[in-house]
Amino acid sequence: MTKEINLKIKEKIAASNRILIVSHVRPDADAAGSVLGIGLALQQAGKDVQMVLQDGADNFRYLPGSEQIVRKADGAFDMIVVVDCSDPARVGDALNGYGSPDLVVDHHKTNLNFGTYNVVESEQAATAAILYDHIPDWGLAFNTDVASSLLSGLVGDTIGFRTSNVDSSVLRRAAALMDLGADLTYIYREELVLKSYQAVRYWGAGLNRLAYEDGLVFTSLTLADREKIGYAGNDDADLVNVLSAVREAEIALIFIEQEHNQVKVSWRAKPGLDVSGIAFSFGGGGHAAAAGADINGDLNEIMARVIEKTRELLVSSRK
Ligand code: AMP
Ligand code: MN
Ligand code: MN
Repeated sequence: MTKEINLKIKEKIAASNRILIVSHVRPDADAAGSVLGIGLALQQAGKDVQMVLQDGADNFRYLPGSEQIVRKADGAFDMIVVVDCSDPARVGDALNGYGSPDLVVDHHKTNLNFGTYNVVESEQAATAAILYDHIPDWGLAFNTDVASSLLSGLVGDTIGFRTSNVDSSVLRRAAALMDLGADLTYIYREELVLKSYQAVRYWGAGLNRLAYEDGLVFTSLTLADREKIGYAGNDDADLVNVLSAVREAEIALIFIEQEHNQVKVSWRAKPGLDVSGIAFSFGGGGHAAAAGADINGDLNEIMARVIEKTRELLVSSRK
């Protein structure tokens, strides 16, 4: 990241009063933590900040400031910031009626660089880590709530510091955020350990249909599962991380039926494989080890298509 772009971002922030921060649909901890991390730092600098997640921040009530996150942008803004999103479609309707963002901060290697300024560092473990590095460069400061938000993003995207991109510099950033007041034990429990009873029963529905074949483990979660169990989300309640525990599997796949004939697909790969390209080819994106796509069509038909292509990837990786 060059000094000039940081200087330009600092000047843009200094010249802006009303600032909109958005991130992706079905927010994960890096999306919510990054929105809050930069949003609360901007508030501390006296800015009028609106933080928007189309699907809300219900899963992140443990983070201070999350109650300020709304589902739709409202009013006019001097500056628009998108965090943890590789393409504008991933923000859902949050930016409808607004122009392209002034600043994009992200770590997806499939990022389309759709902002005026793009701080895209694909080697970083989380967008929250990029923000930790640049908040001082942009004339902003940390406080305990900013640190807690950023640590939550870092813990979330590294699944508790266990992904292959965790190195000593990631842990040093985490330690620095703890020194700034973030409570790791609390964040870790809230973020990764505790699930609602319904969420764990929902896992059961997916685990019941779990299939394994030659290096590939996969299952689905349907609208009927959610209705029967009373699980309120439209995500997988992190079941994909449970599938990644299957030792025999090189790739784990999960298919989550959405409303309006849509299916969310998540890929998780063992180190050495790269599933970002296959996700991108289905209109999605992500990282080598974790990627996703939203695909239009019937669940069974999409499962067949995606499994076939993923199997081709596995076979060619073995050559
Ligand atoms: P998920 O499977 O939703 O946990 O996402 C894994 C990774 O892929 C995350 O870094 C996501 O941001 C990215 N990703 C998931 N779905 C999409 C999508 N529809 N388009 C682009 N990137 C995605
Ligand atoms: Mn994310
Ligand atoms: Mn992320």
